[in-house]
Order: sequence, then structure tokens, then C-alpha cells
Amino acid sequence: MSKTERNILIDSIAGKGITDQKVLKAMREVEREKFVPLLMRPNAYRDIALPIGYEQTISQPYTVAIMTQALKVKKGNKVLEIGTGSGYQAAILEKMGAGVYTIERHNDLYRKTQKLFDKLGIRVSTKCGDGTIGWSVHAPFDRIIVTAGSPDIPESLKNQLAIEGRLVIPVGDKRTQTLKVVTRISEQDFEIESIPEFAFVPLIGREAWDKE
Ligand code: SAM
Repeated sequence: MSKTERNILIDSIAGKGITDQKVLKAMREVEREKFVPLLMRPNAYRDIALPIGYEQTISQPYTVAIMTQALKVKKGNKVLEIGTGSGYQAAILEKMGAGVYTIERHNDLYRKTQKLFDKLGIRVSTKCGDGTIGWSVHAPFDRIIVTAGSPDIPESLKNQLAIEGRLVIPVGDKRTQTLKVVTRISEQDFEIESIPEFAFVPLIGREAWDKE
């Protein structure tokens, strides 16, 4: 697995309209192959989502890129991620200089990824639990990214956003979603933009889908 393969993938993502150089630089540096199961490694630099066990996936690289670009992360931002999964998205955010807080609801996956973060020396704060209710002790957050599809925008996450903060979340039914980009204008006011057509695994929790 080589840096060349990674660069070819990132060049193709740039060709699909990702222009934020900080996002592209982080994606050139983080080794996606380290975040996928051994069997999946030959596919690590294809622009596709891959299974990571526990019926979950590591998102497609283009999706990671477009969500991270929409988040407009600045160095030193406090970022909350809902859906740690493989840890790849959190690693990208850490590489960009954010202070990352990440929540995973699936206990075995949480523990596996925690070990990987330790092994790779990735410094992020992790928690196992329902991310739909956020992480109030650390709020407010400058940025919040939800990496699973939700039926709506959880109120708790909106409330834990700093003024001028941004929240990126796929919202829709269980098959396809629209990416919502929420900016908190004031204590009560939020501006919402939409980017269509995504497909994520479901966000399961008190303020999202019930467990199947
Ligand atoms: N960010 C991940 C990555 O880089 O690999 C993508 C993970 S996958 C598309 C979405 C993850 O969200 C799954 O691991 C799933 O268990 C988790 N999830 C679903 N509902 C959740 C919730 N309420 N709180 C926290 N995690 C949740």
C-alpha cells in the first residue's frame, strides 16, 4: 500500500470539486489503510465505503472530504464527532489541528477504535454512548459533524453549538439523505443549507432512529 495510491485517490477527489487545500492535505497524510480491516486493505484507496465489522462502514473518501470541507474547520476549533466508527474521520480532523471529541454508540467498535487511536498516537477524546444527545460537559462546540443518517437534526446538538458554529449532518430516510449544514447565527437563530444525495448507515439514539 503506497503513498502514490493515496495521492491518486486524493487527486481524483480534488477533480470532483473538493477545493479546500487543508482537507486535501490532511487526506494525503492520513493512511486510510490503517483504519480498515486487514481483508479490506487492498480496497483502502478506492473511493468507496468499506465494511468495518459490527454492520458499520468507514465512509467513502469523497463523502469524508465534502463533509469536512462543509464543516470549515479551523486550527484550534473544538469539534464534536458523532459516530467514531473506524476513527478515520476523527484522524482527519485531528490532523487539521482541531481538538476532537468523538462518540460511538457501539461498545465493541468503540473499544477497538480506542486501541487504534492509542497505537497510532492519535490524541482525541472518546466516549461510548448515544451521540444524539451530544456531550454537554464539553459544550459549546465550534463544529459538530454527524457521520450517520438522521431523521432530523437533534435539538441537543443544535443547543451545544457555539454562536457562529457549524453543524454538518445527513438528514433523510434510512436509504438516502441530504447533507444539512447548520450555522448558529445567535442564541435562537440557525441558518440551514442543503447538499443533496448521500447514503449513510442510520444514526440510532434518543433523538434519532429507534434501534432496529
Ligand atoms: N466517522 C466514521 C469513520 O470515519 O469511520 C464513520 C462511521 S459509520 C458511517 C457511522 C457510525 O455511527 C457507526 O459506527 C455507528 O455505530 C455510529 N452511530 C450510529 N448512531 C450513533 C449514535 N447515536 N451515537 C454515536 N454513534 C452512533
